[in-house]
Amino acid sequence: MSSLQFPVSSLCFEVIAKDGETRAGVLTTRRGVIETPVFMPVGTAGTVKGIRFEELESPDLDAQIILGNTYHLWLRPGIETIKACGGLHKFIGWDRAILTDSGGFQVWSLGELRKITEEGTEFRSHIDGALCFLSPEISMEVQAAFGAEIAMAFDECAPGEATYDEARRSMELTLRWAKRSRVAFDRYRTARGSERVIAGRDSGEPQARMLALPESQALFGIVQGASHLDLRRESLKRIVEIGFDGYAIGGLSVGEDKPVMFEVIEDLAPRMPADKPRYLMGVGTPQDLIEAVARGIDMFDCVLPTRNGRNGQAFTSRGKLNIKNARYAQDQQPLDEACGCSVCRRHSRAFLRHLFLSGEMLAGILLTHHNVAFFLDTMRTVRQAIRSGKFTKFRREYTEQLSSGWE
Ligand SMILES: [Zn+2]
Repeated sequence: MSSLQFPVSSLCFEVIAKDGETRAGVLTTRRGVIETPVFMPVGTAGTVKGIRFEELESPDLDAQIILGNTYHLWLRPGIETIKACGGLHKFIGWDRAILTDSGGFQVWSLGELRKITEEGTEFRSHIDGALCFLSPEISMEVQAAFGAEIAMAFDECAPGEATYDEARRSMELTLRWAKRSRVAFDRYRTARGSERVIAGRDSGEPQARMLALPESQALFGIVQGASHLDLRRESLKRIVEIGFDGYAIGGLSVGEDKPVMFEVIEDLAPRMPADKPRYLMGVGTPQDLIEAVARGIDMFDCVLPTRNGRNGQAFTSRGKLNIKNARYAQDQQPLDEACGCSVCRRHSRAFLRHLFLSGEMLAGILLTHHNVAFFLDTMRTVRQAIRSGKFTKFRREYTEQLSSGWE
């Protein structure tokens, strides 16, 4: 097996246009090409809530990659079921790319219900209260079994208002867990790659090694350090020394003020490796996305379009619209006149309001569809603007329009 050269990168990332710190790129995975900056709809339990996979694939949405939550899928249905069903893609019926998070943020969010030690995090399941334990090694085992194109290192998040000492302790733990994640992940990656090569040889497949390589997954490292810029810089430097296929900024949008969040992004993003994708985790509104893109971020995920859709709130080109509002009772306009999604082409605000107030499940489905379409379409426009050198103009006009509101 001396001809093997593992670990190999399973992602190819190329920046194709730059405008200041802003970049447009192409991220090639074994399951297709993803244009960046990209928004990834969140599929917590293996489903983007309220949206059928056909819709996600349709030209209306055309999501190139979705996110799956390791914590939720590990607790239910569990690793054995997903393994038995051929991995996460097969289990949920989605052929395009997936990114799985590590579960670190979810167990951290449990607050009182969890206990963090050097070894990992002990917590009570939110489903049945059972005592569970998640560590870097277990997270890597679970993510390897799921088989997403991109897996995330297991990290610990410090609260937005963490003191310097708290943030340093958390950052150091995240670094030790990042090393353990890297080691454990490479074990699974090498094992899987070797299996494929052997299988290919046995079948006389001439491209055996080429076939083997795309089977490997990519692993992203996560930068922590709360709102302390020197800790953030040190975290980044040491995470890059370990070496990952991409780098994420974690621990933002967890209680700190917006200007603090953008200060961290502005300081950190330009220092992140230019030839690797940069992922801002769990952020945010369309305006947040554009501001982070302006500072050099390539990838995003957030539950806002789906969660707010279910709660009756639409994101539009003129800001948020609350469909419960009485002023829409007889409003014949679509949610957003500037949106070309199938919901806006067919239905009025009056009908959507009626559905919502009647407790019809279609209300959440239609509002979610529009919101996800709006986020994905915004990113499509962002990419076009960067490529044609018009991002600055786009950013200004978009921001002005967003704040104009609905009269
Ligand atoms: Zn729409």
